[in-house]
Amino acid sequence: MNPNTPRAPDPCLTRRGLLGSALGLSVMSLLGSPVLLAQAAASVAFTKDQRDQMTPDEVLEMLRAGNERFRAGKMHPHNYLAQKQQTASGQYPAAAILSCIDSRAPAEILLDTRIGDTFNARIAGNVVNDDVLGSLEFACAAAGARVILVMGHTACGAVKGAIDNVELGHLTGLLEKIKPAVAATTYSGERSGKNAEFVDAVARTHVQQTVEAIRKHSAVLAPLAEQGKIKIVGSMYHLRGGRVEFLA
Ligand SMILES: [Zn+2]
Repeated sequence: MNPNTPRAPDPCLTRRGLLGSALGLSVMSLLGSPVLLAQAAASVAFTKDQRDQMTPDEVLEMLRAGNERFRAGKMHPHNYLAQKQQTASGQYPAAAILSCIDSRAPAEILLDTRIGDTFNARIAGNVVNDDVLGSLEFACAAAGARVILVMGHTACGAVKGAIDNVELGHLTGLLEKIKPAVAATTYSGERSGKNAEFVDAVARTHVQQTVEAIRKHSAVLAPLAEQGKIKIVGSMYHLRGGRVEFLA
């Protein structure tokens, strides 16, 4: 199947999205914005054209709106089997997300995205190394994603470990990548892994440093960002409350 061929309407969309509207199909013709279209077609994966028409800001708005739905308990009624079927022949994700392996921070759920919407790299402490960088370069330069979202989170165990100089096998080297953020975080109180406020301050610094590291170390991504073709954005997920805070 040609990946550009429009996909057949999902039965879930037809049942819930359109028959539920008094305007029915005419509504679809009025939805000029890809974001609105994507939101209306909650269970339908992006076509290449839809994804390519989205600006990085529209992709960020899609993610922000998804997190609002998550926090409100009003997530889209996902038909994962339909999403699986629709994406089997091709994928056109709009974003690549670098986040922590923490079991409480699954990006796809927190942002209410569908199968096919986002590339996801998960590694303890959302650190970036050459392999992660290569993955992000693939996501944007080869596969067309418009946003890289680095997502740290509160009460991050990896950040605590970096602060407290934990040593454990290969984890020791990973935590070294977070330690520059410990040193760079200005904080007058107790600088230990037991101080939740300090841990979260370091996590925030680390996200900002990771965004800068991606720009600095990728000769592939930096020009895409400079040209406005992609945006590289930091964020913090708050375990309490469920908010994904997008950092400036
Ligand atoms: Zn973590």
